[in-house]
Amino acid sequence: MKTAEVVIVGGGIVGSSIAYHLTEAGCKDVLVIERETAQGKGSTGKSMGGVRAQFSTPISIQMSLYSIPFYASFDQRLGFPADYRPQGYLFCATNDRHLAYLRANYQKQIELGLKNVRLITADEIRGMFPQLRADDILGGSFCSTDGFVDPYSAMIGFMSRAADHGATLWKHTAVTDIQRDALGVTGVETTRGLVATRKLVNAAGPWAAEVAAMAGVDLPVQPLRRMLVPTEPFDEFPHTAPMIIDMSTGFHFRPEALGLLLAWNDPEETPGFKTEFEPGFIEKILTHAADRVPVFENLSVNPKRAWAGLYEMTPDHHPIIGEASDVPGLFFANGFSGHGVMHAPATGKIVSDLVLSGRTDLVDVSLLSFNRFAEGRMIEETAVL
Ligand SMILES: Cc1cc2nc3c(=O)[nH]c(=O)nc-3n(C[C@H](O)[C@H](O)[C@H](O)COP(=O)(O)OP(=O)(O)OC[C@H]3O[C@@H](n4cnc5c(N)ncnc54)[C@H](O)[C@@H]3O)c2cc1C
Repeated sequence: MKTAEVVIVGGGIVGSSIAYHLTEAGCKDVLVIERETAQGKGSTGKSMGGVRAQFSTPISIQMSLYSIPFYASFDQRLGFPADYRPQGYLFCATNDRHLAYLRANYQKQIELGLKNVRLITADEIRGMFPQLRADDILGGSFCSTDGFVDPYSAMIGFMSRAADHGATLWKHTAVTDIQRDALGVTGVETTRGLVATRKLVNAAGPWAAEVAAMAGVDLPVQPLRRMLVPTEPFDEFPHTAPMIIDMSTGFHFRPEALGLLLAWNDPEETPGFKTEFEPGFIEKILTHAADRVPVFENLSVNPKRAWAGLYEMTPDHHPIIGEASDVPGLFFANGFSGHGVMHAPATGKIVSDLVLSGRTDLVDVSLLSFNRFAEGRMIEETAVL
């Protein structure tokens, strides 16, 4: 029978980062099990690749304070590219409530040590991007070290480096059951046979609840469809632009190749494993786009290039990270609620610390425990795009 010191279910960016951090910490006997024939077919390959530290809760900010410098030095550290582009995130407030919210977040971000964030005036925004309709913009916040990465490349970099240091990746292999005894996890059933292990990490992305259910745990992680619309080449908006967020509608966009990538959180979307792109979304998003940026009337879009993927949502929009109290040896790294790429480096470090020593200095991880829901300790993150 195959044995491994640590088994990770899921070879997306989160499982790959955990494998990397474990092997860096000296734990070589790591097996990653991925049911698809290739990595990246889950949420990671569908992501917009945005990375930001402009959050509203200290723990989300702290996760970014580890992760963004990590991405900035990814190529040197790992010898693989992550394509980090520090073009920033610009939040544009259109009412006093938004402005007060950005101010309060800014205060927390500065107190926690974020250096490159600043509040900016409406005039500055107009000066930076005269293409925006700014009659209702009251001000905003901008952080120059926020930006974008290539999630697929980062995932491959993490896994390749982990494999160089001893980790094994099984593709085209599904975990079908979790075995336990009185002391906790003893192994997993897979489509390649039984694997014995005392340490199992659930990194199954939107399918996390299915994997947790194999151990009898009811994990509150729900899949929620998100759609992205790339445009054809467009040169009437600078390609050096940051991610720009119109807080009046939630519409946001960033440069992508010779065009733009458009995103909007449709409030009518309902949870479920829906991964087909809905053509009617294009008209909705282009209406928001042209409303905020009048030259976007001239955008052209090929619906065949648009796509949909799944966010893994938790009730308070924070991940669930840590060991299951009822199932010793089962660790969660789930429910990133739209932030799994930007928080993958921190998650890898935290989970590796917990698996190997039972504790971490990076954050107060008790805030992210599964038990917070039963104990009424939810910590709502509201800066979710
Ligand atoms: C449209 C869209 C835009 C996004 N934009 C951003 C963004 O700008 N910034 C950001 O940080 N995040 C963003 N996200 C979220 C981010 O993509 C996810 O949080 C992140 O990719 C989660 O990574 P993961 O490794 O946990 O999950 P996944 O990439 O889904 O990987 C999980 C893997 O587990 C495998 N698996 C599942 N069950 C089993 C099983 N039983 N046995 C074996 N393998 C199994 C799956 O095949 C899959 O490959 C976006 C997501 C979407 C959909």
